[in-house]
Amino acid sequence: MSSIIFKSGAQLSKKSITIWRIVQLAVWLVGAGILTCLLLFPHLGLLLFWNLLIPIAPFLFVVAVGIWRNVCPLATTNLLPRHLGLSKRKKLTAKQIGIFNVIATFALFIIVPLRHSLFNNNGLATGIMIIIMATIGVTLGFFYEWKSAWCSGLCPVHPVEKLYGGNVFMSMPNANCDNCMNCVIPCPDSTPNINPLSAHKTEYNVLSGIMIIGGLPGFIWGWFHVPDAIAIENIESFLSVYYIPMVGLAITAIVYFNIDRVTKVENKRKLISLFATAGVSCYYWYRLPAWIGFGSFQDDGLLIDLSASLPIWIVPAMRVVTTSFFFYWLVLRKPNKQSWVIRPAFAKKLA
Ligand code: SF4
Repeated sequence: MSSIIFKSGAQLSKKSITIWRIVQLAVWLVGAGILTCLLLFPHLGLLLFWNLLIPIAPFLFVVAVGIWRNVCPLATTNLLPRHLGLSKRKKLTAKQIGIFNVIATFALFIIVPLRHSLFNNNGLATGIMIIIMATIGVTLGFFYEWKSAWCSGLCPVHPVEKLYGGNVFMSMPNANCDNCMNCVIPCPDSTPNINPLSAHKTEYNVLSGIMIIGGLPGFIWGWFHVPDAIAIENIESFLSVYYIPMVGLAITAIVYFNIDRVTKVENKRKLISLFATAGVSCYYWYRLPAWIGFGSFQDDGLLIDLSASLPIWIVPAMRVVTTSFFFYWLVLRKPNKQSWVIRPAFAKKLA
């Protein structure tokens, strides 16, 4: 016989749950709409997905990643089996989650360069990629507890969330897990000031942590030095989308690894924050100008072309503002002990 003991924690009222479900449904419908556009009206779908939604994401991760964790349409889909009582609710071991995190990090570094040669200009390919991810996530949702297997495991976006979301504005309510089953330790959603090396029980956790902290800034820098519309005609054109991002990744990963070795324990978190700042600042350094028509490669990443009406000094001005903001937010601000979301009450099963 089993009983459930509830310890103290933040439980949402019925009214709050209803409101969150409505918001989740609304965002899910927006996501489904973008997916439909990708498949049927690719020009519009590509604009909405790659040039509107994705560029906002890093900023949201830095400031309030908990909002995204609550409403991500993929998460809403993947957690359906759990909400409907159809999940086997298995627990992953620390080693399995570590392996998932390594796969997620490698998947990120493999998929993102393919934007240049495939996804940025092909709505069908982008749509299929999203459908494959949703299929993997839902399948995992039938077997594993809450967010452990996808949202905190295999999702290729998750390593970036953990790197950027180290000092969020405030903790949001947890709009998904009704009770905490301790399915991920440490839970990235519920651990204050989480970082990619907060989980360090296995060598897999450490490997994925070092790869994303050290590798991401150089990877982003390299990614912005490759133009879109590289047709994959042979092995050279295929490798050409990877070459500069991977060189950048290797350089900053080696730099991080060596600085980390001589950094005192009490300063390691600051070092992680510095690399997070480098990554997200580098992203907007290139991304914002490209958004409004000042990009390095013609229409790559263009949302609205304002280059004829805005002065050229707007580009360095934007770069100063964004880099200063992220440096202040991630490095200068004291860790505020906020988690992405508030952990719900523990549900402890007693045999
Ligand atoms: S809050 Fe608890 S149940 Fe939800 S993902 Fe985190 S550890 Fe798992």
